[in-house]
This record gives sequence, C-alpha cells and structure tokens, in this order.
Amino acid sequence: MKIQQFVVIGLGRFGSSLALELMDLGYEVLGVDLNEELVNDMSAYLTHAVAADATDEDMLKSLGIRNFDCGIVAIGSDIQMSILTAILLKDLGIKTVVAKAISVLHGRALEKLGVDRVIFPERDMGVRVAHQLVTPNLLDY
Ligand code: ATP
Repeated sequence: MKIQQFVVIGLGRFGSSLALELMDLGYEVLGVDLNEELVNDMSAYLTHAVAADATDEDMLKSLGIRNFDCGIVAIGSDIQMSILTAILLKDLGIKTVVAKAISVLHGRALEKLGVDRVIFPERDMGVRVAHQLVTPNLLDY
C-alpha cells in the first residue's frame, strides 16, 4: 500500500508535534514554515522541510502539493494566513485538508471554505483530559 504523504504548514508547537508524531507512525511528512530557523531545526526529523510562505501559490505548486494525501494548516494566531493557506490547499486539490482554529468564528470560516476537519487544540485537549481524569483505566481517548 502506498505510504500516505502529509504536508504540515506551520511548525509551531502544534504543527511540529503533529509532524513528528506522523513521522514516528511511519508516514512521509513535508513541513513548511516561514521561519527558517524552525525549518532548520526540524529538517533532520522530517522527510522534507521547506522555509517558505504558504500563501505563495507558485511555491506550493512547485512543491507538488496536489499530490499530497492530506494537508494540515497548523497556523493559528494569524487568521488571515490560516484562511489563505486553507483556500490554496483546497484549490490545489489536496484530498483532505485539516486546519486548526483558535476561535469559534475562525473555525466557522474554515468550514465554509470546505476544510474537511477543523481542530480546536485547546478545547479538544480539555475534553480529552476530562475523560481521562474520570476514567482512570482509559489509556487513550
Ligand atoms: P502554536 O501554538 O502551535 O505554536 P500558534 O497559533 O502560536 O501555534 P502561529 O504563530 O499562528 O502559531 O503559527 C504557527 C507557525 O506557522 C509559526 O511557526 C509561523 O512561522 C508559521 N506561519 C505563519 N504564517 C505562515 C505562512 N504564511 N507560511 C508558512 N508558515 C507560516
């Protein structure tokens, strides 16, 4: 079976953790971030890492983005960057686009753009920890 390929845009705390875990699970991961230092730090651990602006459509095309199975927009605080990147990933034809949102309205905007899955990391983690706290034998939720 073909190895699934992921592109993670934004290698902050959330994006880098996600990218590293996908690598550990045996998938191929391309990481993209504006921050060159961050990209240099991560390049040893990812299949490929590129310092670039993800809102640069030509750059995304040159990386062959449409061939990736799943794109993750892990940009939070800059909502404009998040939304523009999500639109480009959808338009370029990535099958599944996942994006992180930092507010309910941000999440609604991402859903309206056709993002396949919107993640609210802090909210989702709060729910998960609550379940773990009241169900001691539950290893993972
Ligand atoms: P975290 O909590 O995961 O650290 P955050 O919401 O604080 O994330 P942001 O500052 O919004 O993080 O962005 C996460 C990463 O996305 C940063 O490393 C930033 O350099 C990168 N980033 C922001 N805009 C772009 C862009 N247009 N292209 C590529 N990377 C970007």
